[in-house]
Amino acid sequence: MIVLKFGGTSVKDQAAIARLIEIVRTPAPNAAVVVSALAGVTDRLLGIAAAAAAGEGGEALASIEGLRQRHHAVAGIVADAELHRDVSESIDREFAALAETVTALVTLRETAPRWVDAIAATGELVSSRIVAAALTSHGVPAEWVDARRVVVTNDEFGSAAPDMDATFAAIASACRPVLAAGRVPVVGGFVGASARGITTTLGRGGSDFSGALVGAALDADEIQIWTDVDGMLTADPRLIDDPRVVPHLSFAEASELAHFGAKVLHPATIQPAMARDIPVRILNSQRPSEPGTLITSGEVAMPPGHGVTAIASKSGITVLNITSTRMVMAHGFLRRLFEVFERHKTAVDVVTTSEASVSVTVDDRRRLPAIVADLSAFAEVSSDGDMAIVCAVGDALPSNAAAAGEILSALHGVPLRMVSQAASRRNVTIVLRAADLRTALSRLHERFVTTESAVS
Ligand code: ADP
Ligand code: ASP
Ligand code: MG
Repeated sequence: MIVLKFGGTSVKDQAAIARLIEIVRTPAPNAAVVVSALAGVTDRLLGIAAAAAAGEGGEALASIEGLRQRHHAVAGIVADAELHRDVSESIDREFAALAETVTALVTLRETAPRWVDAIAATGELVSSRIVAAALTSHGVPAEWVDARRVVVTNDEFGSAAPDMDATFAAIASACRPVLAAGRVPVVGGFVGASARGITTTLGRGGSDFSGALVGAALDADEIQIWTDVDGMLTADPRLIDDPRVVPHLSFAEASELAHFGAKVLHPATIQPAMARDIPVRILNSQRPSEPGTLITSGEVAMPPGHGVTAIASKSGITVLNITSTRMVMAHGFLRRLFEVFERHKTAVDVVTTSEASVSVTVDDRRRLPAIVADLSAFAEVSSDGDMAIVCAVGDALPSNAAAAGEILSALHGVPLRMVSQAASRRNVTIVLRAADLRTALSRLHERFVTTESAVS
């Protein structure tokens, strides 16, 4: 069986859902579906949470009403009268509950993370109900499965981590009977609940991760990520004019690209797929006959030339420089330093060291002030905001001894803040000013992708 995950643009309106139905019809009933919220809805819901915290009740409630109407309009695709009535009632129920929550929060002037998650989860809870009813009413029998019953997480609201064993068991026991009855289970992505039953979310873009969890739990033959681009591209299409589709990636390459900013895949997606060796395919729901990108275990045939498969990038990065003339050479310093990040549950992406200083990059700024305060207890700390990461990835990079040099020479004249190549040597990662990102990316893309394919 196949697990198909559809992102926000792939369920954004009736036309998108009509395409989804045709895509699912082929593998059904040997299929399970995971869906995101309709495009833009999660941003709107987070805006509603922020308005509630600011005491702007009128604005928040108007926004909820707008969302309710948009979902009703999309639910118009459910042709069967009874199914349409059921789904309409559930839309009204979800948005009435949301309005109640928001009204209470406006009075309290607070939005603790657990309430933000309860609000944000609304998007996937309603989109998945609409998609389940739409499939059934168009001849693909489907059944809604409540993500809060099957994705069991810790209570790290906003970026909750699933308990894999409990989640796999719950997905299997909820979905297997549905599949056995010849129906397609439809689960909202991004959403879970703690063991105590409190709603959580897996972090922005987390529906891909949900798709992989469902795929692994059901031992799927393939996990398909249906989105709005033709596959994993050689660079971010918002920054580069002529990116190419990468036809085949290894799990390791895909994981590096996702981790360093290729938004088409949530960084956690690969892990459950890799653990069970399930191929992942990235496909365009608007051009379903395009081959997309296939991600499998094992190294992929070497690309021509320099060995760069694709280049990931992300901005909004902060560099922390941690200096201690007394401590750096003393053993135990790095342990102390990284304990601070562990305590504040903040991941560090790139690390470089010199004799007296360590530089690290941080993507998630939420706990930065507390981190800086704790580090300052034993070192001097300075920070540079508005930085970016560019990361050239390729399984074949290690076989090109000149790769790092060629990458650096392509960036001649661009001030580089940090340079790193990990032991796997599958990537060369550069930290620079966000203002220089576009220039750096287009130089690397021109040199390693455009020119290479012209030669080959
Ligand atoms: P979905 O809603 O389907 O999950 P996302 O917006 O999360 O879609 O991810 C798809 C987007 O990722 C693309 O529209 C593209 O702008 C962006 N993106 C960034 N880097 C890449 C890349 N290397 N390859 C493909 N898409 C990328
Ligand atoms: N709807 C969520 C988001 O916008 C999750 C997802 O789309 O993957 O982040
Ligand atoms: Mg996404």
